[in-house]
Amino acid sequence: MTPLPVSPVPCLSDNYAWCFATGEGEAAVVDPGAAEPVQRWLALQGLRLRTILLTHHHGDHTGGAWGLHQSTGASIVGASADEHRLPPLDWAVQEGDRLELGLHRARVLAVPGHTSGHIAFVVGDVLFAGDALFAYGCGRVFEGSMAQMWASLDRLRQIPDAARLCCGHEYTSANLRFARHLEPERDELIDAAVRCIGQRQQGLPTLPASMDEQRALNPFLRCDEPELQAVLGLEGLSPSEVFAHIRGRKDAF
Ligand code: ZN
Ligand code: FE
Repeated sequence: MTPLPVSPVPCLSDNYAWCFATGEGEAAVVDPGAAEPVQRWLALQGLRLRTILLTHHHGDHTGGAWGLHQSTGASIVGASADEHRLPPLDWAVQEGDRLELGLHRARVLAVPGHTSGHIAFVVGDVLFAGDALFAYGCGRVFEGSMAQMWASLDRLRQIPDAARLCCGHEYTSANLRFARHLEPERDELIDAAVRCIGQRQQGLPTLPASMDEQRALNPFLRCDEPELQAVLGLEGLSPSEVFAHIRGRKDAF
């Protein structure tokens, strides 16, 4: 699959709005926390915004949606379950829905846990995960249960065509600190931290992240892995119990 060209546009303190061309001079954006940075990207690229995709209702992901809709006429797409707390939707979507975005197709997945109505989008080789899955981390469980969040992450790690992760925040460095604290013996985590620090020092985003790397190294995606369970002294627990343990430790870290 040819990689989808995507641009992480920094918004607010550490959010990314993910922008991509959809063909014919048009573009889509995922989770515009603010309108102005996205407007600047559109002007620079000479593209017209057609579609605004929202993963969940938190203001740092939706703050720019209405302004962009008003200035560009772009359609707003979000979860039907969250219609009451999202900006006015042109398309209310749910699990399994498919959207046409110019040359591309987007697939909708329900991934509750961070919020009850959280959705993710798969476009080409990219997974737009919002605050469900981060590079070397995952979102806090605000609304769903720990078991529900684990089930969502279990689904995300199994999407075969998702090769690159585009998530809502630049949290990689802090997530790697915690991952290294859990598994101090894993050299790959040190390599990843060195790379991440270098990128941040140059002002570069650490994203998109490789999904293969996340499947191999992100502790939150490995709750059923005997090696990780052994390092943590959690042998014999169910994956969702292991997830609850790791999530609890991260919340207190
Ligand atoms: Zn959020
Ligand atoms: Fe967020």
